[in-house]
Amino acid sequence: MKLMILRVPFLPAAGMALFPFILVKTQRLKLNKVIINHENIHLRQQLELLVIPFYALYFLNYLLNLLYYMHHDKAYRNIVFEREAYSNERNPEYLKHRTFWSWTSFFAARYQSA
Ligand SMILES: [Zn+2]
Repeated sequence: MKLMILRVPFLPAAGMALFPFILVKTQRLKLNKVIINHENIHLRQQLELLVIPFYALYFLNYLLNLLYYMHHDKAYRNIVFEREAYSNERNPEYLKHRTFWSWTSFFAARYQSA
């Protein structure tokens, strides 16, 4: 699938996946393979959850994490969809071999901050 990448200067993050688009804050980020791959993983997650349920689960997972961690960044990084994306964003082959609903296997994982 050809990626549709749009530059949105007022974006609150470097990148964001808003099916069927990838939004990036600056023109230069369009060339950042790690960020584009990260957002592309989110597009796949969104597609296989028929988009709207993805956002509902994403937000619910964030809220539960926030209650658990009481810390925005830890809550965000440990959203199951983010665990999958951060764990595989540096592997350009990941989406070629990824299986359906792979994000479910990341419930058991935990994001390790540097
Ligand atoms: Zn992400």
